[in-house]
Amino acid sequence: MTALWWVRRDARLADNPALLSAQEDGPAAAVFPWSERVHLWSGRRRAHLARALWSLREDTGGALGIRRGTPADAVLAVARESDARVVWAQAEHSPAGLAEQAAVEAALEADGRELRLIGSPYAVAPGRVAKADGTEYRVYTPFSKAWREHGWRAPAPDAAPEAFRPVESDVDLDQRAAHADAEDPIDPRPEFREARIHDALADFIGGDLDRYKDERDRPDLDTTSRLSIPLAFGQLHPRTILAATGPLRSDAARRFESELAWREFHADVLFRHPSALRESLNPVIPDDAWVTGDDADLAFREWRDGRTGFPLVDAGMRQLAQTGWMHNRVRMVVASFLVKDLHVPWQRGASHFRRALLDYDHAQNQLNWQWVAGTGRDAAPYFRVFNPDGQADRFDPERRYVERWVPEVDTPAYPERMVDHKVEREVALADFQRGKGSG
Ligand SMILES: Cc1cc2nc3c(=O)[nH]c(=O)nc-3n(C[C@H](O)[C@H](O)[C@H](O)COP(=O)(O)OP(=O)(O)OC[C@H]3O[C@@H](n4cnc5c(N)ncnc54)[C@H](O)[C@@H]3O)c2cc1C
Repeated sequence: MTALWWVRRDARLADNPALLSAQEDGPAAAVFPWSERVHLWSGRRRAHLARALWSLREDTGGALGIRRGTPADAVLAVARESDARVVWAQAEHSPAGLAEQAAVEAALEADGRELRLIGSPYAVAPGRVAKADGTEYRVYTPFSKAWREHGWRAPAPDAAPEAFRPVESDVDLDQRAAHADAEDPIDPRPEFREARIHDALADFIGGDLDRYKDERDRPDLDTTSRLSIPLAFGQLHPRTILAATGPLRSDAARRFESELAWREFHADVLFRHPSALRESLNPVIPDDAWVTGDDADLAFREWRDGRTGFPLVDAGMRQLAQTGWMHNRVRMVVASFLVKDLHVPWQRGASHFRRALLDYDHAQNQLNWQWVAGTGRDAAPYFRVFNPDGQADRFDPERRYVERWVPEVDTPAYPERMVDHKVEREVALADFQRGKGSG
């Protein structure tokens, strides 16, 4: 009997329990629904998705079907064509993912078929790590301790590339993969073949990981793993990474794992508080503190285009525009600058990141923005305001990062500073005091 694998954020053959389950009784059919929702993505992210799917289709001997339509329509149509009574998929826990799987389940059930969910994009599924009384951890550090204590399974064995039944596509992936980002070129293109991603993981673990603990905050050295993109598209599972770092006895390995724990923490927070996608979890700033109208539009544009006159901020925004990725330390600095120096709400910056980042992930983006803004669950105190010059001195001491992205930094062509950081910092702190007073 054929089973169908509904491909979601798990475009991979390695360590994939949903796919293995679908192949249990023989070759599986496989479909990725190319829904309208994908058209809401930025062109660059859609292009990368097309490449990731192109790679997966190659790895399935051309059998993967890419079908236009909602997940409910596409999955039902292919389940009927391939006579699959059972559809296997990876569970999602975000608001959109939950709604999508409920719709697929209802469509299949009405047709006498069944959706079975297994696994998640996390080492420990959101909602599982909880205090003894069943309530959530509100703060990252105890969460991460409990997360480690909970532990995770070993990676699942690789799926068989030949055990697929061909499904027809009605989306011309080759065209999309080749051209979809022609108007928004990214340099360099991130790796998109699954085997190469595993090579990159092995290279990182055998190389830069040693220096991770000391260098992870240095955008000039650029020695972090860059695995956020394959993680966001599900071409790599965090369990696979943790299985590789687990046996290592170094502090660097533990530190690296603790960054993956942030990813799991944010997914857990969003699962428990779906409104965090748009609303501050901890609204510390009075509504009238934000700049509005034309002033806000102008401030936002200068920030977006890397023309603030603050070299580290501008370097980060230009790196983002040109590559679809930005170093984590600089993400924190630019986000703090938008919210606390320009007084623009975090939601607007988060929307820009949604369009610009290749590793965009609802939970990671929105909750990191909330963390920097001081409105999150595990709030960095609102009164922590990043000083863009101090951060540059500390983390880009020879100005190599700034000079790479802002080559005109020392010439008259470089813009004047938009604001006085000292003054705006005081404004932000006064707003916070007011908010505290009224709250
Ligand atoms: C304002 C802001 C927005 C962000 N938006 C996103 C986003 O949309 N998608 C995204 O994946 N990350 C986001 N991050 C987190 C972080 O910046 C990236 O995960 C990291 O820079 C990716 O590079 P890397 O893979 O080389 O990281 P490494 O340092 O090599 O870390 C390994 C992995 O750990 C995880 N990780 C590291 N730092 C964080 C963190 N602070 N929060 C959650 N997970 C983390 C990522 O999965 C990352 O791939 C954001 C951070 C900030 C401050």
